[in-house]
Amino acid sequence: MTANNTQARAKGACPICGRPTERRHRPFCSPRCQDVDLARWLTGAYVVQTEEQPEVEDDVVVRFPDPESRRK
Ligand SMILES: [Zn+2]
Repeated sequence: MTANNTQARAKGACPICGRPTERRHRPFCSPRCQDVDLARWLTGAYVVQTEEQPEVEDDVVVRFPDPESRRK
């Protein structure tokens, strides 16, 4: 909340674990934290979707993207 905090974030701290980010994994420090963030994001999106359309719940689970395959 201070100017110093903002600077520290811009400098590159992993939003998952707070460690310095690796350039190739930005804004995260590692593929693991990338996956954690992706899972969190998808979980949030998934919850919103199932609230509106409970019938597609199974379909959403099956389509859960694999971060490894996205890289290729
Ligand atoms: Zn991290």
